[in-house]
Amino acid sequence: MDYQASDHLQDLQYFGEYGGVNPSISDSSTYTFLSAKTMFDTFEGNTEGCYLYSRHSSPSNLYLGEALAAMEGTETANVTASGMGAITAVIMQLCAAGDHIISSRTIYGGTYAFMKNFLLKFDIKVSFVDITDIGAVEEAITPKTKLIYCESVSNPLLEVADIRALSKLTKKHNLPLVVDNTFSPLTVTPVKLGADIVIHSLTKFINGTSDAVAGVVCGSKELCLGLKDVNNGAGMLLGSTLDSLRAASILKNMRTLHIRMKKHSENAMYLAQNFEKDGLRVVYPGLKSHTGHEIIKSQMNLEYGFGGLMTIDVGSLEKANALMEMMQAQKLGYLAVSLGFYKTLFSAPGSSTSSEIPLEEQKTMGLGDGLIRFSIGLDNDIRRTYGMMRTCMEKLGVLAKDTVNP
Ligand SMILES: *Cc1c(COP(=O)(O)O)cnc(C)c1O
Repeated sequence: MDYQASDHLQDLQYFGEYGGVNPSISDSSTYTFLSAKTMFDTFEGNTEGCYLYSRHSSPSNLYLGEALAAMEGTETANVTASGMGAITAVIMQLCAAGDHIISSRTIYGGTYAFMKNFLLKFDIKVSFVDITDIGAVEEAITPKTKLIYCESVSNPLLEVADIRALSKLTKKHNLPLVVDNTFSPLTVTPVKLGADIVIHSLTKFINGTSDAVAGVVCGSKELCLGLKDVNNGAGMLLGSTLDSLRAASILKNMRTLHIRMKKHSENAMYLAQNFEKDGLRVVYPGLKSHTGHEIIKSQMNLEYGFGGLMTIDVGSLEKANALMEMMQAQKLGYLAVSLGFYKTLFSAPGSSTSSEIPLEEQKTMGLGDGLIRFSIGLDNDIRRTYGMMRTCMEKLGVLAKDTVNP
């Protein structure tokens, strides 16, 4: 069997100050130096392992960064105060005025808004393409292109990027391939498939307890040191620094990520298969009917399953809203954005997390207003959950009572 990402994580050992089994939390914003010369050298970036000021780096943030680098198989990683803090820092670091980016058109709403609206201020242009159409991606490349951006499994449509094919293309044109892997930690390891930079919103599966906002950039030492550079690093200067206490708590949660991902996947697969049999329009990468099924199968770490996200299109926003309210009343989950919680979370992306995307564009990308995105929870008895969800659907006429799915 392959040496997996979670084994790398399991092997990491950092002890606390008094031999504690967890590393000590660095509860300081600034650090003393024994000599003025060392302080000067540290500012110049010449003293590895010396701490200066916690916006630059702190021991707790480095521990979490090392764990994430081990998981993604990159040289190193920088943690940030949010997923957006990681995404914006990487883009601002790699691009200057006049440059061009190619991005998948089905991406997280905040990333889309940043690229579409905010980057205009800096005269950075973005071409949004169908990322599953490699020919279209190549055609969009110009001499000004600085990076290609996608999500391994996209939000909210669960489109699967063919990272191997994309990396062949980016290598041919000498461009970095930046992949947001928030939806598929452990399941997909983008660097193994040729990606150069991997980003996560730690807020979701990796932390898993919906109590913190954080992010990470996993990449080469050159990139990560560049982001921290005191003179021109976007991480250092834009200031999206993660607090040490949060970094420590996220690291502890991360140790059960492999168990949680397997359970999220197992539960989502069960529901997706059964609701599909019931005749609903279900999108889940684990279903044979999914357009990216073969691609994800060829690029995933099978033991973690196909992930915890699925969508069901119930036809109209009214039905979607009524169903979500009823499911919440039945304690089946929460009507809430975000993902990766122990409870199932559901929302209608067209009117929430993807509302930054204009209606016209939502339609062309297949984002109907009856679409419900589910982040399936860690329910112990998913058969019971399925039965209860079915009852809600029958009551609202989403499913006919006489559908028989043995
Ligand atoms: C939530 C999310 C983000 C943004 O992360 P924050 O931690 O909320 O800043 C980026 N990409 C994807 C795919 C997400 O789901």
